[in-house]
Amino acid sequence: MTKHAYPMLLAPRFDPKIWGGRRLESVLGKQLPTDERFGESLESDGASHIVNGPAAGSSIDDLLQADAAALLGPLGMVASGDFADFPLLAKFIDASDVLSVQVHPNDEEAVPLGKRGKTEAWHIIHAEPGATLITGLKPGLSRADISQAIEEVSLGELVVEQSVSSGDTLLIPAGTTHAIGAGILLYEIQEASDVTFRMYDWGRTDDEGNPRELHVRESLEVVKPELRADRVAPLQIDQQRWMLAACRFFALERWDFQRVPVDVSLDGSSFRLISAIGGAARLSANDVSIDLASGQTALIPASVGQLQVDGIATLLVSYVPDLELDVVAPLSQAGHADEDIARLAGMLGHLETPAGL
Ligand SMILES: [Zn+2]
Repeated sequence: MTKHAYPMLLAPRFDPKIWGGRRLESVLGKQLPTDERFGESLESDGASHIVNGPAAGSSIDDLLQADAAALLGPLGMVASGDFADFPLLAKFIDASDVLSVQVHPNDEEAVPLGKRGKTEAWHIIHAEPGATLITGLKPGLSRADISQAIEEVSLGELVVEQSVSSGDTLLIPAGTTHAIGAGILLYEIQEASDVTFRMYDWGRTDDEGNPRELHVRESLEVVKPELRADRVAPLQIDQQRWMLAACRFFALERWDFQRVPVDVSLDGSSFRLISAIGGAARLSANDVSIDLASGQTALIPASVGQLQVDGIATLLVSYVPDLELDVVAPLSQAGHADEDIARLAGMLGHLETPAGL
């Protein structure tokens, strides 16, 4: 056991945005640092700091430098790879206005940029009545059609809009045309990557009448017109745990705990990011406890073997999975059909383990 094998409370980084709001505080329960409109809180950025215990004051990047293997575990190390970074980024996003329409490259397409691609999943925490997401493009469009619609500021007529409500989960493969609509507070887990191509901004301009920069050429290069962000049907693993989404980059679980201390055995293969989205939980391991309030995120290093969870809380848990051991086997054992399990990967189509594992 390393000296850093304990539950770590993370201090997020907040991003004020004109399209943001106050729901990170009013709905989720976070404490916002100023009275600005906040669009995002980055929960597991490399620069995020640890609040408690022997590593207090260190950033995630500091811990990676000191002992990456203990923090990430073998699967986390593979995902980190040559980037030598923390491979998964968890965020909370509050959209008070519709965001620009975006697309991300996949891992292969991002190589020339020296970056990772970005596949992501969204879990809706709160949606105003009638709130929608842009989840793809209408069927049968060519790149030329898309290009022309961007040019004519009419892409809004070609996108697929899907209404969502609290509790929904969607998996957004790299290459999918997507945007978050107004009135939505969500949790996002994604491959750690900052490559976002802004495809379309609804013809909006700033106070001086200038449009925001678009990345039309890059967007057209990586967009896969047939891809959609599909709603994923959650599958129950056991009394407390549900699998919300799973693909080769991440697994996302929802844990509902009702004040019975529960021992969770972790096998050391990956770290866990645990975010409370309702209630409060006490997480304990190796004589260190933290109280996780709604809106807070904890990092459980891979070197933590046994985690005790107590409280009445709804938790979102993200990690780098062994798809067979962590996803397929437990869900099969719980009685779920193979095709239902495969649907956890949305339009990625199947649960595919990367070569070399
Ligand atoms: Zn995105």
